[in-house]
Amino acid sequence: MRIVILDPFEVLSTDLLGRVGRLKTRKGNITTPALLPVVNPFIPNAVSASEIVDLGFQGVTTNAYLILRNAPECTSVHNLLKIESPVMTDSGAYQLLRYGTISVDQERIIAFQKRLESDIAVILDVPTGGYASEEQAMRTAIATYQRAVEALPLIKDDNRIWVAPIQGGPYTHIVDRIAAQTAALDYSMYAVGSPTELLEEYNVAPLARMVWVVRQRIPYGKPLHLFGAGHPIVFALFAALGCDTFDSAAYAIYARDDRYMTPYGTKRLKDLVELPCSCSICKKFSEAKELLDVPKPERERLLALHNLNICLQEEKAVRQAIREGRLWEYAKARCLAHPALKAAFRVLVEGAEKLIPFTRTRKRRGLFFYDHDDLNRPEVLAFKKFLKEKWFPRTSKVLLLRADKLEPHLERFFLNPPSDYQVCLWGGPFLIIPCEIAHTYPLSQFEAADCLISEEDVLWIADLLVAKGVSEVLLVRSGDPLESILLERLRSKGVQIQVCDKPPL
Ligand SMILES: [Zn+2]
Repeated sequence: MRIVILDPFEVLSTDLLGRVGRLKTRKGNITTPALLPVVNPFIPNAVSASEIVDLGFQGVTTNAYLILRNAPECTSVHNLLKIESPVMTDSGAYQLLRYGTISVDQERIIAFQKRLESDIAVILDVPTGGYASEEQAMRTAIATYQRAVEALPLIKDDNRIWVAPIQGGPYTHIVDRIAAQTAALDYSMYAVGSPTELLEEYNVAPLARMVWVVRQRIPYGKPLHLFGAGHPIVFALFAALGCDTFDSAAYAIYARDDRYMTPYGTKRLKDLVELPCSCSICKKFSEAKELLDVPKPERERLLALHNLNICLQEEKAVRQAIREGRLWEYAKARCLAHPALKAAFRVLVEGAEKLIPFTRTRKRRGLFFYDHDDLNRPEVLAFKKFLKEKWFPRTSKVLLLRADKLEPHLERFFLNPPSDYQVCLWGGPFLIIPCEIAHTYPLSQFEAADCLISEEDVLWIADLLVAKGVSEVLLVRSGDPLESILLERLRSKGVQIQVCDKPPL
């Protein structure tokens, strides 16, 4: 029976560039963002695909090239793995990256993935790797693009999801150019060829920049896969950057090395006293040493199962954060676990203006502001844009009151605003709020640490008022040292200043 999949991806909920989506495969839907753990059916004693599905994962990834080498007669990847859930097959590019050569051509590996009844299949790309020279990066990125072009007639009329990887490594200008060209080929899914060696060293920022560049180029409605990102600590960040699916064998590789995953980093089992997790594996041991005493092949399996549990828990938490519209806070909290991740989070901070159209303006809960970076949240940038483009003060005389000093005057200003002054609240994370709209979301629904705004923000407030034709400012003194900078700037632009200790009645 032929199953026709018209549009394989549906976006259900969005926050930043992250989305909860429905990826429709021939073996059922995958709710994204989702990790499809890598399984190798030819390793005895490894965690099996059916165990992974039983844990709650929605599908797995395996390698078509390995199956071709070890079971060339295989006609069903689902039978081989003994699961009925969606299976993604990689083409062998990882082996090419690791061993330098593989003995298969694209035509053969595409035909083989079709024969295996793979649900999500990948063309044979040429991986760049994390430490390639610029020349090598260009060569591999162009070669991968050419493969994507050559594959088109081979996959025409085939109704599984075909993935076109985009290479180029940390050279974002190359990635940008190739992503634009590949996007034009209209594949049903794209992927970022991840330099896994960078991830292993927590060197996440170059990869975050790659993903950012690719996501800007490929259509928003197309799903994006990230190869090799298997540590739960990075799921939230890469989901926020617009990745929908991940594959990784990290859970098994770490387990082999006696490394125990937590959502905020990896620990060596020998360094742990407690097992800070209550999954079905960890519950069996009262302390870490008991697990360490389990003989190796079994210990490796148990650790792999724990690591998978942690990955699944994080996958669900990330989806929930997107649904609640608090992916910014969630990804940031994860990125604070390691300085290199904090640097990667800056990719979001610096690009926040482009996130505005994808960030919901109504959320079920208020926003949290921890530090100055949070003033780059798309919600704040959208409000600043509104002030610049659409707000006009009622009069040219403005009464400025510190946002946190409003409380005693609340009734006076909301129920009976003075007709001769435009009252504005300044100094909170939204910089300056006209009193009339101060109760609209999210201008009063937030929690902020003190003293978030900088001298630069205060100058922005002054320049906004000048641009809006304000000629007189009455400032209610608050004792904030930034006040003098605000007044000085206004005065230098010809605004008349008065200062008082209490707002006029
Ligand atoms: Zn556990």
